[in-house]
Amino acid sequence: MPASQAGRRGFDSHRPLLRGGDRPFGGPVPVRVSRPPVLTVAAVAPDSLASELGLGPGDELLAINGRELVDFLDWEFLAADDAFELHVRTASGRETLFDIERPEDLPLGVTLEPPKIRRCANRCDFCFVDGNPAGSRKSLFIRDDDYRLSFRHGNFATLSNLKDRDVRRILEYRLSPLYVSVHATDAEVRRRLLRNPKAPAILDQLRMFAEGGIQFHTQIVLVPGHNDGAVLERSLGDLWAMGDDVLSVSVVPVALTSFSRHDLVRQPGADEARAAVAAVERWQARARGERAAGWVYGSDELYMTADLPFPPAEAYDGFAQVENGVGAVRYLEQLVERDVARMADMTDRRVLVCTGTAMGRLMPRLFPPLERATGASFELAVLENSYYGPSVTTAGLLPGDAFRRALAERQGVHLALLPAEAVNEDGLFVDDVTLAALEAEAPMPLALSYHFTDALAAEVAA
Ligand code: SF4
Repeated sequence: MPASQAGRRGFDSHRPLLRGGDRPFGGPVPVRVSRPPVLTVAAVAPDSLASELGLGPGDELLAINGRELVDFLDWEFLAADDAFELHVRTASGRETLFDIERPEDLPLGVTLEPPKIRRCANRCDFCFVDGNPAGSRKSLFIRDDDYRLSFRHGNFATLSNLKDRDVRRILEYRLSPLYVSVHATDAEVRRRLLRNPKAPAILDQLRMFAEGGIQFHTQIVLVPGHNDGAVLERSLGDLWAMGDDVLSVSVVPVALTSFSRHDLVRQPGADEARAAVAAVERWQARARGERAAGWVYGSDELYMTADLPFPPAEAYDGFAQVENGVGAVRYLEQLVERDVARMADMTDRRVLVCTGTAMGRLMPRLFPPLERATGASFELAVLENSYYGPSVTTAGLLPGDAFRRALAERQGVHLALLPAEAVNEDGLFVDDVTLAALEAEAPMPLALSYHFTDALAAEVAA
């Protein structure tokens, strides 16, 4: 989920302000910290409260008002108070207590070191981690299941690894909405899917959190023979019965790679996907009648597997789960339509669009408005996934090597657009090829793009 979500959740609307000066400790530290701190400053913005305090990279944020800071949630929520006392240990080991009052316009200006990700307690047969080829980089083998990232970034979490303390924090901080992988509301079916006999009953968890004011976006990863048919119907009925607490449900077909355990689980066929779409659209019709929104949505992949056309853009009600591949094509079409007026003049240029097989057949419909707006001609390179195998069709998981080979074949192209999701924050493709290496080798300039208009807008392309 984009960082903008954090803004929607209001962290930045509370601006703390420094009232007093710092008070270096002369005697015993009045704040008890029972274990090594884990909250370390990575960077400090200029013209911020943190810079006024003299904080810098490596400083450790220990406590606010005597309460130990465990992670970014504590920091963001406790520092949102009008006034607070901040206990810091600088990188040089000096401990300081700051007496702070919120200013009008001064941002906190602290970037924290990334949090340690909470590991998953499940062993789903369809886990993407098991679908990685041997030798993939370590980070691809992390099974993360972290309610904090669910709240903060919209990552889906199963909530099966929550400790009592986590439950208390979710309620105290009102972490809403949470993005929850439900899969099935039948507790036994869900335990089988998660391969976790200790997984708590998800409906009980959702109801308990809902009583505390938490709402949910949910997903059901459809695994034929396990949670489709009557099980899907029951799951949708149970989630529907929770009323407004369940904001949306997505139904997404399970995705496997060539390396996944195909003897344990399989992807749905066209008939199975069609049956799921029918169930989704039945519930959607009811939801539109009773709640004025569709509530449940099939992912693009579900419609493609079913060989059915996508619903119109209006059917996605604001695209609440577009990051989960729900309505992504319609969303893209809308963006292109919205932004054609601000496209760069690229008359007589040739633009190559690289994508995966999922979007390959859908992409050409986006080209005519782009061509009219820019004057360029657009052509397509549809890449099969040579890393995970052809069953992985999403552009975001294409390896650098596939791009390298596709680009080398093209002559006379003025610009190649690559899917921005395929490159991580370190500039690496999934196979560890770097974007920099690709740029050095490619016979044309490259641009990463999420939705065309980000790379082709006049101010970007200028
Ligand atoms: S919940 Fe399942 S799919 Fe997700 S990381 Fe854990 S084992 Fe993998």
